[in-house]
Amino acid sequence: MAAKIEMKTPIVEMDGDEMARIMWHMVRKRLIEPYVALNTVYYDLGLENRDRTDDRVTVEAAEAVKKYGVGVKCATITPNADRVKEYGLKKQWKSPNGTIRAMLDGTVFREPIVLANIKPAIRFWKKPIIIGRHAYGDVYQNTEHAVDGPCKAELVLTMADGRQVRETIHEFGEAGIVQATHNLIASIENFARACFSYGLDRGVPVWFATKDTVSKTYDGTFKALFERVFTEEGYEKRFKEAGIEFFYTLIDDAVARMVRSEGGFLWACKNYDGDVMSDLVGSAYGSLGLLTSVLVSPGGCVEYEAAHGTVQRHYYQHLKREKTSTNPTAIIFAWSGALRKRGQLDKVSALETFADHLENAVRQTIETDGIMTGDLARISEVPARQVATTEAFIAAVGERLAGSFRPEIP
Ligand code: NAP
Ligand code: MG
Repeated sequence: MAAKIEMKTPIVEMDGDEMARIMWHMVRKRLIEPYVALNTVYYDLGLENRDRTDDRVTVEAAEAVKKYGVGVKCATITPNADRVKEYGLKKQWKSPNGTIRAMLDGTVFREPIVLANIKPAIRFWKKPIIIGRHAYGDVYQNTEHAVDGPCKAELVLTMADGRQVRETIHEFGEAGIVQATHNLIASIENFARACFSYGLDRGVPVWFATKDTVSKTYDGTFKALFERVFTEEGYEKRFKEAGIEFFYTLIDDAVARMVRSEGGFLWACKNYDGDVMSDLVGSAYGSLGLLTSVLVSPGGCVEYEAAHGTVQRHYYQHLKREKTSTNPTAIIFAWSGALRKRGQLDKVSALETFADHLENAVRQTIETDGIMTGDLARISEVPARQVATTEAFIAAVGERLAGSFRPEIP
């Protein structure tokens, strides 16, 4: 057995639930452990362990990502009422991703893996469109009220000294609805910084769009803050050096341009736009199994994961000992992303090379060998040569990898 690549600093490994967890361990064992002397600090975020630890394990995992700088996370169940019954939970624990995102004050970037034989629904797209979604405020932290008859709705601000500012929202003569939303300057600025930094990191232009012609103060502030951060915090100069641009336009114009573009940019989206657009862009590129997700904190900590969930339906097949054909590609790319980042930070170039080889092995398995899981076989331009089970697909990637990668140990 050849020597393995040594790691200087651990990666924070967060295990998860159901089919994603099954694939997690297959990928680890078959594709990574043979080549890398894996050094991870392991946190089991599987639902049973979150329940056992009163969800402390999630908080500890997020602390560890802050400490070590790089994490990789498996999909986890966000319990609803059914899950509380299914697992006999003490309570309906919060979404682990929500907890981790709040603790890292992070921005999530979602990026599709573009493959030659999986054509996006929009034929102009050649390169990935990365969506960066602001994860604070707007309608997600709103206050709203059902108006059941004539009334005057006002916006009232009470200052620290008791002074009040009032504005009429609407004089209702009939039933209606009313809503108030807010955001924070620091949060918007951190979002802008995260997007500009990630754009530089990936060498792609950054787009931002709002409806500032209509919402002159709320959206106008977003626009002004992005411009301020860009020009006053050195990004303008760094973008020029990198040969990329920052482009601002109205949200409806951005949507029209995005459809006609060939991709290859980062689109910074306000919270709601990002919610909608990430699903649109993700599904237009192909399968959820090809969508990756990275959480970046303003301090530079990064957490990699697949954008899809635990793939519950396939897991129940697996439990019945039926063959599954679940796509592990986004999980593999979460691992390769984390290993590459660790390699860059620690100057262990063998880790970066390994990450490249691992990703290429996946690409060649699908593009050249025509071996793919069911989700891709359904949408592939060229008919699949083999519709593989989850395990057979990972084994095929493993063979490709073994044929291409020889770790060079200094
Ligand atoms: P999901 O796990 O993303 O799966 C939804 C459907 O998308 C699957 O049934 C499958 O379609 C398809 N799909 C997703 N990933 C696939 C893959 N890798 N390969 C092939 N097909 C794939 O969403 P869900 O079923 O709505 O949620 C299940 C659980 O995941 C929930 O408990 C939810 O809380 C959790 N979740 C976690 C995260 C996270 O931790 N990041 C994100 C989302 C959801 P077919 O059934 O048609 O084959
Ligand atoms: Mg959504």
